[in-house]
Amino acid sequence: MKRNNLKKYILPAIMLTVFETVAITLWLTKHTIFYLFNFSYIGISIALGLVLFAQNYPHARRVVQLLVGLYMLLYLGLICNENMQIEGFWYYLFTGVFEAATIHYAVAKIFGPLIFGRGWCGYACWTAMVLDFLPYQTPDHRRRKIGWIRYVTFIVSLVFVAALFAANAANMEEIMFWAFIAGNALYYVAGITLAIAYKDNRAFCKYICPITVFLKPMSYFALFRVQCDKSKCVSCGKCKTVCPMDVDVTDNSRKRKNGTECILCMECVRSCPKDAL
Ligand code: SF4
Ligand code: SF4
Ligand code: SF4
Repeated sequence: MKRNNLKKYILPAIMLTVFETVAITLWLTKHTIFYLFNFSYIGISIALGLVLFAQNYPHARRVVQLLVGLYMLLYLGLICNENMQIEGFWYYLFTGVFEAATIHYAVAKIFGPLIFGRGWCGYACWTAMVLDFLPYQTPDHRRRKIGWIRYVTFIVSLVFVAALFAANAANMEEIMFWAFIAGNALYYVAGITLAIAYKDNRAFCKYICPITVFLKPMSYFALFRVQCDKSKCVSCGKCKTVCPMDVDVTDNSRKRKNGTECILCMECVRSCPKDAL
């Protein structure tokens, strides 16, 4: 194999190493084999996706999204009763239990975005996993001024859990499980309705999702970003047309338009006729 070909596999190898390091460290420090299984599975899924991407497989991102999203929704959520939604995060935070949901938020949604931006949104989220099956992959690019709704849903989730603690509710674990089911159903209904109304698969992500309150400010500082080589760019605008999140990817500054919305889907990179991205 030529050297250039080998170089394409460095990133999958790095990602696998990072996840295996987390898996082994948590397994040994918390004495729970679940962490070894969990982070190894996610690391292998991501590495596999990156290998497929390196081989120009057009559905590489969707493969990872389905592998990780289904695992989290069906196995962790429904079988293990782990509420990975935002109310689950508040719940485990208030109980002081540093377990799967809090670790998940720390890695994927709070500190991880400092490195890989909103990779979670492009490759793992089980809400977007369903929304991305809808036919409005490329939106009409008209932005609505309703982004404030995300702060309302964020506060509602916090108040909901705080009220349960204030009321000293019995069967909190059970309530959290049903909140996970009801919350997901609500997200899917709202997400699909909004996608159809606005002809935009990612309308829910742009206007409603409470997780973006964490994701947007942290991903502003992301280490991995799509950058534009200005010497190659011919300003054809193709990258902006295909972007599901309306990012002005030709602007390299951190303040670029909708920069904190990039989900690293690489549609712009694949569509650029000049390999400028
Ligand atoms: S914005 Fe929210 S719903 Fe959309 S992909 Fe990210 S976490 Fe999922
Ligand atoms: S698609 Fe490529 S060449 Fe066209 S505007 Fe975007 S970066 Fe420039
Ligand atoms: S098309 Fe490019 S700029 Fe837009 S979300 Fe995907 S990777 Fe980010």
